[in-house]
Amino acid sequence: MVPKNHSNTIDFDAAKLQRLGYASRKQQAIKPVSLAQLHQRLSLQLQTSLEVERILELFFVQVQQLIPLDALGYQLASCDLRLEIGERATHSAGYRLNHEGDYLGELVFRRGHRFSEDELSQLESLLACLLFPLRNALLYRTALQIALRDPLTGSGNRIAMSQTLQREIELSRRSLQPLSVLMLDIDHFKRINDEHGHLIGDEVLKNVANALKGSLRNVDMVFRYGGEEFLVLLSNTSCEAGVMIGERLRVAIEELQHAVENQPIKLSISLGCATLQAGEGAESLLRRADTALYAAKRDGRNRISMAS
Ligand code: GH3
Ligand code: MG
Ligand code: MG
Repeated sequence: MVPKNHSNTIDFDAAKLQRLGYASRKQQAIKPVSLAQLHQRLSLQLQTSLEVERILELFFVQVQQLIPLDALGYQLASCDLRLEIGERATHSAGYRLNHEGDYLGELVFRRGHRFSEDELSQLESLLACLLFPLRNALLYRTALQIALRDPLTGSGNRIAMSQTLQREIELSRRSLQPLSVLMLDIDHFKRINDEHGHLIGDEVLKNVANALKGSLRNVDMVFRYGGEEFLVLLSNTSCEAGVMIGERLRVAIEELQHAVENQPIKLSISLGCATLQAGEGAESLLRRADTALYAAKRDGRNRISMAS
């Protein structure tokens, strides 16, 4: 563990800052304990979860039995993790966490007044209790991500899509917010494979996935639906906005230059946009988006069509 005075600024293009709700629990009376007692409690408590967010929250609550804190920040760019528990404050003590050569992220304790030398050494001692549970949670998270990600493009796979779509449909119903999906397919992709080979075809697929992600908001999600078909999930997005976003993606792919031996490969996509209707399920929503996509193909490709 290497203490640091300032956190480095990291540009997260995928991770969105997750603020964990702590306010309601802040009122709880904090009973002071000794450092040894706290070590014992932490060792027991932190074993109870494999979720990074939960483990850090437990750690934050428990540490306050010895050292008052206003907030705890955590970030690990390689795992798309960026969390903030509590409220920001002016003084901070940051630690880069390493375990047997593995970098486990950066943790920052924050509060309104300075940390004493004693407190810093106690915090450092308590961090030892966090290392194993945090490492296990990160391994678990990585395993889950591998199971849910398409290895070629790094987008969510079909399992991830089904789970996420189900969740987003429920959220959309409860919050009465619109939900739109874009089903898209690369035009004449077979020709690219036939003319340039499968390896170049794979490269094109990766580039298309990256270009899609680069043209979307952080909250929008891209899944590889099939061979050269992708599904984009747009939460809080109306039908009109969905079509606008789809059009932006169409232009982004059209402008994507993929050169093979200095010969540019012409690329385009066709898209179908569907917006969740009252009482509709995932299967019907996907079917309508797919029908719209085929209408776009039929009408000449390199265009977007709206589901009826
Ligand atoms: P359309 O405009 O009608 O969509 O024509 P298309 O040629 O794109 O459509 P079609 O469905 O006939 O062909 C899709 C091709 O995508 C066929 C398949 O070999 C290729 N494909 C699917 N998955 C992969 C992959 O992972 N890598 C590569 N290189 N090619 C793939
Ligand atoms: Mg195609
Ligand atoms: Mg296809």
